[in-house]
Amino acid sequence: MEKKSLSSAGQVARILNYINGEFVAAGSGKTFENRSPVDARLLGLVSEAGEAEVDAAVKAARAALVGPWGALEMAERTELLYAVANEINRRFDAFLQAEVADTGKPVSLAKHIDIPRGAANFKIFADVVKNVPSEFFQMATPDKKGAINYAIRVPRGVIAVIAPWNLPLLLMTWKVGPALACGNTVVVKPSEETPATATLLGEVMNAVGVPKGVYNVIHGFGPGSAGELLTRHPGIDAVTFTGETRTGAAIMKAVADRVRPVSFELGGKNAGVVFADCDFDAAVEGMGRAVFANCGQVCLGTERVYVERPIFDKFVAALKAKAEGFKLGRPEDAATGMGPLISQEHRAKVLSYYERARKEGASVVTGGGVPKMEGDLANGCWVEPTIWTGLPEDSAVVREEIFGPCCHVRPFDTEAEAVRLANDTQYGLATTIWTTNLARAHRVAAQIEVGISWVNCWFLRDLRTPFGGSKQSGIGREGGVHSLEFYTELRNVCVKL
Ligand code: NAD
Repeated sequence: MEKKSLSSAGQVARILNYINGEFVAAGSGKTFENRSPVDARLLGLVSEAGEAEVDAAVKAARAALVGPWGALEMAERTELLYAVANEINRRFDAFLQAEVADTGKPVSLAKHIDIPRGAANFKIFADVVKNVPSEFFQMATPDKKGAINYAIRVPRGVIAVIAPWNLPLLLMTWKVGPALACGNTVVVKPSEETPATATLLGEVMNAVGVPKGVYNVIHGFGPGSAGELLTRHPGIDAVTFTGETRTGAAIMKAVADRVRPVSFELGGKNAGVVFADCDFDAAVEGMGRAVFANCGQVCLGTERVYVERPIFDKFVAALKAKAEGFKLGRPEDAATGMGPLISQEHRAKVLSYYERARKEGASVVTGGGVPKMEGDLANGCWVEPTIWTGLPEDSAVVREEIFGPCCHVRPFDTEAEAVRLANDTQYGLATTIWTTNLARAHRVAAQIEVGISWVNCWFLRDLRTPFGGSKQSGIGREGGVHSLEFYTELRNVCVKL
């Protein structure tokens, strides 16, 4: 019988590492608690991988790479990835339940975004790799016989995938999908806050017959734990990471001695720009999502909103109404529009910015504190959706990524001023621009220094397009064929005829 990843010991589930096709506890017996952000109930005890487990996972990944996975034809590999996508969809409810339990996000959100996209990431990248042509040139040579020169793509090897907690399955598979499609093998370190869906994916891999060692999961924390042990392991060939900018810097140092490539999707302090000629209702709706979706825990979300002066007051009032319209509550309640933050630790960080904004003299348009929740919910990681005005641009609240349901709104008078304000940041992930002036839309989008500019929309993207950050928001681009730049290496072959 298949060993389950989430085995039950009494009432408490045990979440195990997944190494070489087996669910295993750490030899040290070390575990850490996984608690619900909604009401602090204990969801499970997670086995914390140590040096031995990290080493076993990397070795299993290497053995699969040079063994059964490397031996597959591309068509066989992609068939298995379609099967993975189908199996996630077949187990949709189990994934949904696990993701919602770990994150506390509303079921309505996870049902439409996290799980479907988690499955789609395997199918999309299987399609991409099948349709990428190679370079091929015919060369003239002095003896007139010629030569042919072409490039072949080969997998990079064993990829370390380090994932965050805000969209756990989606962001992890966004990297595992292309890595496997390109013929690599992976060792995944999910966030310590959200260990469940990466582990469930191990069951899917076994069920559809992905060879042992192709996909491995090790649990633990960052520094001094599984994350750092993985990035320092000499057996990994590359690291792909999504998370905070300063964690990216630590990972870069960890791989520097061995000169391993990295792909980084990092933090942001994204600006939204609303011109007076916008479709007002659409702009309020869109900015409401950009600021408050997933309780503000979206890297692409907006924490700085710039509004053209003639509509400033009206816009702030409308955004306030939007913020106050969210019902905070249990994820499974259909009326719930906003869940809690991920952890008490993160809540303390967000609340420290709420406090700081008050101290620095912000006008608190709405929120700014902790909502009163009933019963068990009072133990959860709740904060009020919050809007400020009146802070200077050099305030830490306006400059640093908070990653909560909050924004600062400031008026501007000219297009040039809006662009200058939007660009006055060390980050460069995303922007959302609202205007009905087509020429202005193109002009402003081209000037804002970010990886993605949305015009009259937010969080909309064809997955074949490049995704990534400028400045301190990332290194590299993933998505569609762009993912191949990281997950494969090109080899040049020149044949004299
Ligand atoms: P985080 O950097 O704290 O942790 C991310 C992962 O890195 C976790 O698995 C963690 O255990 C691991 N980690 C931490 N320190 C490590 C170390 N020294 N070595 C190896 N691994 C280490 O980020 P988070 O709090 O999980 O996620 C929120 C952050 O992620 C925000 O900054 C957000 O903007 C960013 N993010 C960016 C994108 C993007 O696409 N650019 C997407 C989602 C989230």
